[in-house]
Amino acid sequence: MALFFATSLFAAEVAITIDDFDLHTEPLLNRTQRDEGVLRALEKHKVQAALFLCCKYLSIPESKARIPYWEKAGHLIGNHTLSHYFYDGKGFEIFSKDLKFCHDMIKDSPAFAPLFRFPFLKGGKTKEQRDSIQAYLKNLGYKNGYVTIDASDWYVSSRLEDALKKNPKTDLKPYRDYYLNHMWKKSVFYDEMGKKYWKAPVKHTVLIHHNLLNALFLDDLIQMYKDKKWNVIRASEAFADPLYSQIPDVLPHGESVLWMLAHAAKDKTLRYPGEDADYEKKEMDKLGL
Ligand SMILES: [Zn+2]
Repeated sequence: MALFFATSLFAAEVAITIDDFDLHTEPLLNRTQRDEGVLRALEKHKVQAALFLCCKYLSIPESKARIPYWEKAGHLIGNHTLSHYFYDGKGFEIFSKDLKFCHDMIKDSPAFAPLFRFPFLKGGKTKEQRDSIQAYLKNLGYKNGYVTIDASDWYVSSRLEDALKKNPKTDLKPYRDYYLNHMWKKSVFYDEMGKKYWKAPVKHTVLIHHNLLNALFLDDLIQMYKDKKWNVIRASEAFADPLYSQIPDVLPHGESVLWMLAHAAKDKTLRYPGEDADYEKKEMDKLGL
């Protein structure tokens, strides 16, 4: 009873982590406006986020010009490869060169943090694939920039973009509501998984992407966590937690790190992949989104 009381005093904690940096133009906002929307939400809530940069996007001058704003605001910039290859299919030689290319582009940034996140959260299907890339990353000074709360914001955003292209007057609110509801469901789901498979309270890292949805609604997402009494913590604090130094001995390697811990414990309820568009499609179709 005493223990239950003690642990219930700790509010859940979550850090915001943002992948890719695909600031394409249209619909609704241009590149700069998108990025301003995301940064404004972080600034409003005084949140330090981690941006997992896919370096190919730096070839677009307007996108590259936004990086100093991230640096000045004190956010972290981690490595998400140059080309966003699917590691399981590409193999070690090509993939390691590709991530090193991105490393050389970001390593001198004042925001650089030696954190690596696999595209699609796929870190190798075979033991050899997994171990070779983990050894390479370690040698380069990296830790895994794991996600704990995996989700499909990217899919919700793509549906919103499709709708806006068809009808620029599309009502945004149902997309916002679907998004927040989805993120809350996933947060609770992975928090329960954390309670089962990680002994200490999890310092969560939620996965979202730099997209239209978050340019519009990141403020609401952070507010949602606050309303639910979750503490939104600095990304640097989350990644310093021992959870992020784990390399769970499972194959395939990837998904949420909590998913991997559950997999290592032979949890029979897991689905693979952990999250994907297919899981959301039916529900969004039904709602006419
Ligand atoms: Zn990505």
